[in-house]
Amino acid sequence: MQPMKIASAPQTPLPGFPQQSPIHLEDPIHADLGDRGLQLDWADIGTLQCRAQDGDHGASVKVEGDSAAIHLDRQGFELKGFHFHTPSEHVVEGKRYPLELHLVHQNPENGKVAVLGVLVDTDSDPNQPHEPLHKFLREVKEALPNEGPVHVDPAILLPKFPSHYYRYEGSLTTPGYDSNVSWVVFKEPLRVCPDELAELSDIFEKEARDLQPLHRRFVLASFPPEIHPPPQG
Ligand SMILES: [Zn+2]
Repeated sequence: MQPMKIASAPQTPLPGFPQQSPIHLEDPIHADLGDRGLQLDWADIGTLQCRAQDGDHGASVKVEGDSAAIHLDRQGFELKGFHFHTPSEHVVEGKRYPLELHLVHQNPENGKVAVLGVLVDTDSDPNQPHEPLHKFLREVKEALPNEGPVHVDPAILLPKFPSHYYRYEGSLTTPGYDSNVSWVVFKEPLRVCPDELAELSDIFEKEARDLQPLHRRFVLASFPPEIHPPPQG
């Protein structure tokens, strides 16, 4: 991937919507979130029935029928759908990734939204198989013209260590910008081959919203800080 310029945050937030997304995820506060942390209740859900959709913001996938659920901050949320941004909207410790997947969930009672952000990196290592994500994306691309059905086990959309994530309160990143969104962005990216991503990139929205000011918010991290050994003399 080409080095990309990190967009600077505008100086003034939208009036009335100070807690905006995306943000630069850096210098988090490492915290044991306990029962306020992310619980993925997806383990045994298996394959979800979905439908590919082509909208103003590129391809998206709507979950039909029974949904998978998560718990976050002691609230339940149901998976409504996925969509994609290229390049990534969140920047993690200075790095912008080629793709970011958003898994959008909603609380059925109060309407509050929780989004899981999954970063996707490219990796040319031929020994690393990247089949599940690539296969799913190709299925989405093929179903798109007719808004046809797609099937996915949401577990394939998660990185290897889903207990390692950044956590903050923000907003939708598309017009509306409703600031009632709880964000989880996983620390580890998924990996696909560069040519796999190139083959599929025309279905993704090619725009990332500018990074937004943090203001008086904190970024939490569910994982322990990296310990750097003292330099040897
Ligand atoms: Zn999004």
